[in-house]
Amino acid sequence: MPTYKAPLRDIKFVMTELLEAGPQLASLPFYQDNDTADLDLITQVMEEAARFVETEVQPLNQVGDREGCVRDEHGEVKTPTGFKAAYKKFCDAGWPALDADPQYGGQGMPHLVSMTLNEMLNSASVAWGMYPGLSHGAYSALHAVGSEELKNLYLPKIVSGQWSGTMCLTEPHAGTDLGIIRTKASDNGDGTYNITGTKIFISAGEHDLTENIVHLVLARLDGSPEGTKGISLFLVPKFIPNADGSVGERNAVVCGSLEHKMGIHGNATAVLNFDQAKGWLVGEINKGMNHMFIMMNAARLGTGLQGLGLGEVSYQNALAYAKDRLQMRHEPRVLPSENADPILVHPDVRRMLLTGKAYNEAGRALAMWLALSLDVEHHHPDEAKRKEAGDLVALLTPVAKAFMTDNGFQTAVLSQQVFGGHGYIQEWGMEQFVRDARIGQIYEGTNGIQSLDLLGRKVLMDGGKKLQKLAGTLQEFAESHEDDEHIGDYVNQLGKAAQQLGSLTMVIGQKAMSGSEGADEVNAAAVDYLRFFGHVVYGYLWARMAKIAQEKIDAGQDRDGFYLSKVQTAKFYFAKLFPETKALAATIKAGNESLAVDDKAVFGWEQGLVTA
Ligand SMILES: Cc1cc2nc3c(=O)[nH]c(=O)nc-3n(C[C@H](O)[C@H](O)[C@H](O)COP(=O)(O)OP(=O)(O)OC[C@H]3O[C@@H](n4cnc5c(N)ncnc54)[C@H](O)[C@@H]3O)c2cc1C
Repeated sequence: MPTYKAPLRDIKFVMTELLEAGPQLASLPFYQDNDTADLDLITQVMEEAARFVETEVQPLNQVGDREGCVRDEHGEVKTPTGFKAAYKKFCDAGWPALDADPQYGGQGMPHLVSMTLNEMLNSASVAWGMYPGLSHGAYSALHAVGSEELKNLYLPKIVSGQWSGTMCLTEPHAGTDLGIIRTKASDNGDGTYNITGTKIFISAGEHDLTENIVHLVLARLDGSPEGTKGISLFLVPKFIPNADGSVGERNAVVCGSLEHKMGIHGNATAVLNFDQAKGWLVGEINKGMNHMFIMMNAARLGTGLQGLGLGEVSYQNALAYAKDRLQMRHEPRVLPSENADPILVHPDVRRMLLTGKAYNEAGRALAMWLALSLDVEHHHPDEAKRKEAGDLVALLTPVAKAFMTDNGFQTAVLSQQVFGGHGYIQEWGMEQFVRDARIGQIYEGTNGIQSLDLLGRKVLMDGGKKLQKLAGTLQEFAESHEDDEHIGDYVNQLGKAAQQLGSLTMVIGQKAMSGSEGADEVNAAAVDYLRFFGHVVYGYLWARMAKIAQEKIDAGQDRDGFYLSKVQTAKFYFAKLFPETKALAATIKAGNESLAVDDKAVFGWEQGLVTA
């Protein structure tokens, strides 16, 4: 049976020593006014969150996987044993309201805190954590662009957790390409719309945790243009609320079936049929994609945290197993009285564990850096500071989503490998982590699509401005520490890679402008480019963490070996993981040429692009 302990010591290190969040939060009047910027209070909240997650949520993970969700003949869905009771306790304790706006019943805590709670929830049970996670995304979109009327009616219920939320984009024929969706909206002329169509793969689309479910649905209004420019966003509740906020008439949206899937069994993945269901417009007509992006960006960071959460919990269990499992002798012996030594002595087992640890700790640093940047983006009094923070979040969101879920999956697989054959057996729980981690690379826009977003939209279409700003920060750090006896070698590697990122971007940018084949060149390079980018960001964070830790060691303040662990994990990262950038640079430069094969000869595809 797997176990989980929230990594509070590391969270505190990132918050106070790496990010120096105290002074940053103190400069944001919103948190000052709400008395939520105090780091002692934040620490207490995180400790309480850890207690809740470890005792109430983590025990549900295997039950949820075994039982899954069950739909009855009326389309109602029952969640696994214990899910509903834990959700009630979660709401009673006020957790859904953590970082929500006090105007709607929220507690006004920084994103830094809610991001940390999310990481813990994802370690404990991704499937369970997705129910409040999606509600939070719906809250963000509605809060940002909903009318006052909709906000006053719906937000207090979502913030309290009484009602949950979903995001309804995908249709059977339209996943990545939302411009071709067929769900229709027609104007009733009384401020309401009728929504008709089928949405598939809707997470938390139907369940028994809440008395109402608020669907945010993309649909095309009669007469709107084709493509993404003609899509609007509608709020479609399962039950239409009465004016006093009580639950009223049943709306015409029904769960047609549940998907049987590889992982996250405890989360209902629903086919939803909208049959002239009553809906309300959210934001402006034909601006639905922009509005949905608010929810999608929140969900992308949330998905990155799923990678981190699963990486952390699988690492913790693999480490415990490696200390316990005796196989093969090692010289020198660790347990001379036994006929074998713990597998943790073997360098290859250490490689697997250190890979997970290095990715987890850098991933946590990235997620918390972005959370703090979101706090600055939303609440700093200086507009220039808000924009700078917003640019960083925009640039790094696809990196956080894709790099963290790829590394989370890799860590789950390596941690399973540490268990040998036992990792393949259900009762140890490791194969569930692998199955649960896989979806993070696929939904919320596949990781391939995240890479295109990074390279195409966030870097090239922006003329490299956001990238230059980040690269400037990295270069400055690298130059000012190049003679450092401890991290000089790391920053040297980092500085070279940051420079190379700039030159690779220019090479791809030039190819992108080379006529009709330019788009394929970007497409061919994007996934490797994002991975290169991710290593540059993690390299920066590891070099900074190593520097801070070394200073503590030098000052004699490393009582429990925490800082030595940081310094040594940084050493491993730069020796064994960061050099992946060299191979990636080569594959990025190789471009599209080797992919542009003869379709007929190689794929047996008659109608394809014949290039030979
Ligand atoms: C368990 C689960 C939960 C989900 N939850 C939700 C939810 O709550 N709400 C919701 O709306 N959706 C949800 N989804 C849908 C999910 O977001 C989509 O599956 C995903 O975005 C991919 O769409 P698709 O499956 O149609 O794949 P496709 O779009 O058909 O893509 C197939 C492959 O082609 C690649 N591809 C497509 N276009 C390009 C291109 N231009 N360049 C390079 N490669 C390309 C993709 O990367 C992918 O590898 C969920 C899916 C699953 C499985």
